[in-house]
Amino acid sequence: MSEIREALLNLEKTARLLEPTPELRRYAQSSVIAYSEDFLDRIETVKTYVSDAGKGEGLLDSPIVEEGIGLDAAIELIRANVDTPGLNPASGGHLGYIPGGGIYYSALADYLVDIFNRYAGVFYASPGAVRMENMLIRWMCDLVGYPAESSGNLTTSGSLANMIAIVVARDGRNIKSADIPRSVIYLSKQTHHSVDKAIRVAGLGECIVRHLPLDERFKIIPSEFAKQVVEDKAAGLNPFLIVGSAGTTDVGAIDPLIEIGEIAKREGLWYHIDGAYGGFFILTDEGKSKLRGLEIADSLIIDPHKGLFLPYGLGVVLVKNVRDLQNSYSFDAHYMQDAFAGTDELSPAELSPELTKHFRGLRLWLPLKLHGLAPFRACLEEKLLLAKYFHAEVQKLGFESDVEPELSVVTYRYVPETGDQDEFNKRLLADVIKDGRVFISSTMLNGKFTLRFACLSFRTHLRNVDTLLAVLRDSVDRLDRSE
Ligand SMILES: *Cc1c(COP(=O)(O)O)cnc(C)c1O
Repeated sequence: MSEIREALLNLEKTARLLEPTPELRRYAQSSVIAYSEDFLDRIETVKTYVSDAGKGEGLLDSPIVEEGIGLDAAIELIRANVDTPGLNPASGGHLGYIPGGGIYYSALADYLVDIFNRYAGVFYASPGAVRMENMLIRWMCDLVGYPAESSGNLTTSGSLANMIAIVVARDGRNIKSADIPRSVIYLSKQTHHSVDKAIRVAGLGECIVRHLPLDERFKIIPSEFAKQVVEDKAAGLNPFLIVGSAGTTDVGAIDPLIEIGEIAKREGLWYHIDGAYGGFFILTDEGKSKLRGLEIADSLIIDPHKGLFLPYGLGVVLVKNVRDLQNSYSFDAHYMQDAFAGTDELSPAELSPELTKHFRGLRLWLPLKLHGLAPFRACLEEKLLLAKYFHAEVQKLGFESDVEPELSVVTYRYVPETGDQDEFNKRLLADVIKDGRVFISSTMLNGKFTLRFACLSFRTHLRNVDTLLAVLRDSVDRLDRSE
């Protein structure tokens, strides 16, 4: 036998370790399933925030080396270092920031996707995978009221979706580098910071960025926007982009979407709407009426890993006219000449920065197909009502909460009879987090330290909100007594 054949057979022996035997697969599956079942069995009772279990340092004691370790040892490393310390976003007690989801059938979909590893970047390679993603994009375009020529992309997150859209806006308004210093972008002080990041990444960091003044409910004032555009044009500047929010992260405010759209249209600006947090409330009657105007936007984003309770890893950008998306992202490559010949179905690779991509469509399709829309709708409606309930109940405990919740975020603060108000609320926040049964976060509103209630986990129900109210009541009592 030739040396080369012998060497190959030797390498194959070790290389084949990458394909576990059926017995090893069964063993691995049962260990992983046992672990995940235990996690789910305990999800209603475990703490939402764990502050006393280290910070994952144990991982460093087990470096990456030539020899593998057993699955049980690996799971133990994950349990102790990843799944225990810090915030548990899978818990219904997560009422801070914008809570995520983690619905089960998405996990099974991800498992299947990774096993068959279909190439979802181009239609030619996997017509079924691409058709499924296009069908989901069509469904979401219809949901927001977009026309037939609209399309979009399933991306990893809202931030990436914003980035894709800001680039499309730049190219759609033909902003070249020489135009940048005199080109104007309009945001609000409440615009999500991922938009600022996208502006910089898109090479627009040296544009003039105006943070429009807000009304008492933290919404853009359309007349102020219109006035500023007129002034800027009169000064010889080039206003080209306005970003509205369909649910700000901080307070859940929805900008006056229709009025802003009318001004944008009249003045020739690209209109982008960030609906990462609020967009899917359109599935409810209340949300649908509050989100009127989404369909006017030239581009918009919505986050299934927020509003449809998916595990992290799915944001969506929608663009009203697919030609704008193609204009920014289509490409030519000789080595792919076969792939794009004669297909009429669009491919994600022509519509996004990605080529090879995770087939993320299945983690959205499978739960939608298995559950149907009704439970999603009910869950979103429940979140809106829980926010109203919390808003009413927290005031009965003596908290200030002036702004009626528009979606599922409530801002509130306690006003002690004596002492520094901000300090009191900071201690209250620390107290609640230390207790661990629920997790809340804070923000600064009009210069005041303010607590936030953000309700979006599919596991958050009345029970969790009552727990938060009880924890707040006990903490206030304790802090009041220690004054
Ligand atoms: C969460 C959020 C984003 C960013 O989305 P990620 O998925 O976290 O990247 C953008 N805009 C708003 C309004 C958000 O709430």
